[in-house]
Amino acid sequence: MAVVYEGKAKIIYELEGEQDKYVVYFKDTATAFDATKKSEVEGKGVLNNTLSAIAFQILEEKGIKTHFIKKLSDREMLVWKAKRYDLEVVVRNISAGSLCKRLGLKEGQKLNKPLVELFYKKDELHDPLICIEHSLLLGIASRKEIHEIIKIARRVNKVLKEFFRSNGLILVDFKLEFGKLTDGSIAVIDEISPDTCRLWDAETGEKLDKDRFRFDLGDLLEGYRKVLQKIQGG
Ligand code: UDP
Repeated sequence: MAVVYEGKAKIIYELEGEQDKYVVYFKDTATAFDATKKSEVEGKGVLNNTLSAIAFQILEEKGIKTHFIKKLSDREMLVWKAKRYDLEVVVRNISAGSLCKRLGLKEGQKLNKPLVELFYKKDELHDPLICIEHSLLLGIASRKEIHEIIKIARRVNKVLKEFFRSNGLILVDFKLEFGKLTDGSIAVIDEISPDTCRLWDAETGEKLDKDRFRFDLGDLLEGYRKVLQKIQGG
């Protein structure tokens, strides 16, 4: 298999003889604060592959297109090839993280309406917050595509919020990435895991996501395992 792209948490491989598919390999590397904080957390990749596969399947069941085809192994999933939009789309239900920092809000406030934010995916610029006009200026996507992406992000939020809520978890916020499949349609790509979602225990309020690593709140994998246990009905 040839490496197409290596990111902080995943490696994308091309399969010989496969024109339209990639393999995504989930690593154990945990990073935060623009990768200034970095650590190997043995077993994280396995959990994130499993949790992402579950999330993608749920979206597919609800008719939302994703790049997910199937789980291949503990750390690998097979996906459709997609041309990535250089966007990170964040959806928020409750105030946390950079929203609080930027706007001076207290953490944990329920937002009147889910908030969708666009960030330009560009390491050198530290992924700045941008508006629709900026993304058009940068040629990231057409106006029609951006509106479609935002619409899909809101639908993903509805589905995942309900799914996690029914399993005793609060979906505070999350980040999505999008790509264009070879047939021209827009799909949710990348991963959906506690690395990319804030998830709180609905009863205790315990943080079960990457904030544990960001702010040394406790064992990272213990949180991720709790998420898996809950969504598997444990
Ligand atoms: N997020 C992500 N990758 C990023 C930035 C954010 O997965 O590069 C996720 C993050 O885990 C959280 C949501 O997007 O669930 C909102 O993150 P925020 O903007 O609050 O930034 P943070 O404070 O997490 O850096």
